[in-house]
Order: sequence, then C-alpha cells, then structure tokens
Amino acid sequence: MCIPDSVPRAIRPYADMPDHTTSHTRVSCPYCGEIVSITFDPAGGARQEYVEDCQVCCRPWQMVVSVAPDGTAEVTVTAADDL
Ligand SMILES: [Zn+2]
Repeated sequence: MCIPDSVPRAIRPYADMPDHTTSHTRVSCPYCGEIVSITFDPAGGARQEYVEDCQVCCRPWQMVVSVAPDGTAEVTVTAADDL
C-alpha cells in the first residue's frame, strides 16, 4: 500500500464541501490533544504557513503545509502563541 497516512481517503467529515481543491487530514492539537479534522489546499503552493484556530479549544495553531511534486502533502501543527 502506498497511500500516505496523512491523507485519509475514507474520511469525509465535510461531505457538503466540494472536494476538488481541498484535502482533508487529521492533526493532534498541541494544546488540548484532540484529534481534529482539517482541510487544506494542496494547490496553494509547495509550502504554506498560516495560523488556524483549534476547533475544540480555539487556541492558535501555526500550520505548515508542504506539498511534494507528486502531490503528497505533509501538514505540521505547532503552538502559535508559544512565545
Ligand atoms: Zn485544541
């Protein structure tokens, strides 16, 4: 099997959203530890950094999305207010 586990294909938490431009993955919140489903846009660039709030505890995540030339995306989440 060569399906990267960062791209769960069987899970469609947002069935009403168009699936053409975004991908789903699940991340563990660095604050509350909850596993949260997120969407990101692999077409948005090879490396994307932005802040997104946790859907559970509303604290800010620093998101880093890296997209390989073959389309494989890797999403990293760290605490954004760890100053
Ligand atoms: Zn959280």
